[in-house]
Amino acid sequence: MTDSSLPSLTARPPADAPLPGQGQCTLVGAGPGDPDLLTIAAAKALQRATVLLVDDLVNDAVLQWAPASARIVHVGKRGGCQSTPQAFIQRLMLQEVQAGENVVRLKGGDPFIFGRGGEEVEFLRAHGIEPRIINGVTAGLAALTSLGAPLTHRDHAQGVVFITGHAKPGGQGPDWAQLARTAHDARLTLVIYMGVASAEAISQGLGSGLPADTPVAIVQHASLPQQRHAITDLAHLPATMARDKLASPSIIVVGDVVQCVALAAQASRTIGPAGHRDFSEICGYDSHSSVEDRASIA
Ligand code: SAH
Repeated sequence: MTDSSLPSLTARPPADAPLPGQGQCTLVGAGPGDPDLLTIAAAKALQRATVLLVDDLVNDAVLQWAPASARIVHVGKRGGCQSTPQAFIQRLMLQEVQAGENVVRLKGGDPFIFGRGGEEVEFLRAHGIEPRIINGVTAGLAALTSLGAPLTHRDHAQGVVFITGHAKPGGQGPDWAQLARTAHDARLTLVIYMGVASAEAISQGLGSGLPADTPVAIVQHASLPQQRHAITDLAHLPATMARDKLASPSIIVVGDVVQCVALAAQASRTIGPAGHRDFSEICGYDSHSSVEDRASIA
């Protein structure tokens, strides 16, 4: 282990270790990318794994917790790219558990937020296997936090909606106009996953129920060293994303809490950064820029 501050992880055997000869499966959230955001429960599960089935948004750095003897299978699945079919992944999971392995299914962020974790659990249960689930920090949570801003705030937002911009093939996407009216009336922050390809539809649809100058943050590779972001408004969302070449994986956050990003950047200049990030370097523009300034150059 590289982190000597957590020596007790190996100090005693886990209470729920598999019985000899009995396989088990644990769905583990690997967090948004920064390996330090892995939970202790996740690190313990990795330490016990004999087989790991790893999604492609998982940072390989978290695999340091797995034993050197563990078999690691990368089973990436990215929209529009060549990927391992879901049915194959599920069959592989089942086969390995039935062969007596201690399988860890490692998924980016949280396994139960847009990770198809629900489908995998249903599949395992249908075959008589009850998996264990370990939460991870979901990307939508890490995205705005990485810019020093909250998702809820008593002055700006009373709740949060995590929503996908990408419909199941053949399925219907979100009703953005309806969602905008609800977000407006209930004062909700919208956190959009997989929204890069739908930026135009999001901007137009949400624009029919929310003011055109509603602030928006786009955060790519949240929590990783290559993180980039832009602050704009609803009307300028597609143009800003195109100009700044913000691509997948990105989170789009819509709502008044995004105003707090500018305040956080300002504070980091006057009282010093809380972490290691210099916002003006990350986003490539003067961190004093307000949301309105940013939108006007978009
Ligand atoms: N289960 C994951 C989400 C999987 S869906 C979670 O809880 O985070 C995949 C989408 O998540 C991506 O298209 C992107 O919208 C988002 N995503 C995942 N990791 C990200 C990251 N580090 N930065 C920004 N967005 C990310």
